[in-house]
Amino acid sequence: MTIRHRDAKPSVSVDHKRITLTVRPGSDAAKRAEVIHEWHRALLHEVVPTLIQKWEPKLKVKVTGYFLQRMKTKWGSCNPKAGHIRLNTELVKKPKDLLEYVIVHELAHLLEPTHSERFMAILQKHYPTWREARAELNELPLSSEVWRE
Ligand SMILES: [Zn+2]
Repeated sequence: MTIRHRDAKPSVSVDHKRITLTVRPGSDAAKRAEVIHEWHRALLHEVVPTLIQKWEPKLKVKVTGYFLQRMKTKWGSCNPKAGHIRLNTELVKKPKDLLEYVIVHELAHLLEPTHSERFMAILQKHYPTWREARAELNELPLSSEVWRE
């Protein structure tokens, strides 16, 4: 990543795989991380609604809302009563099929809140490669990022 300092609204741009982060002069690491985080959220907002819409009819569930946030210990969570799911913004760095797996997993929790046999059976039926996806997700630990110039 290239970091550019300019007295302008902070932004991130991607051009031929080069990522340029533009921040104001004097911006510290925390500010840079915040701009990157907002960029990650924007990228996820582009793909998450489509994935939710794809899986709602398959699982016959209705998601009333989703939230994207930093999460220290998990990739996603679900509030079955409210019909909300939460997704870890770190998922943006993962292959899209893993993001999809987490969405299917959280949607399945709308049907079954615990990791019971019934829950496993729902995953098995709708997302048979869930074990591989889960293993792949757990390979890399969740960690906060450090941005260096
Ligand atoms: Zn779960």
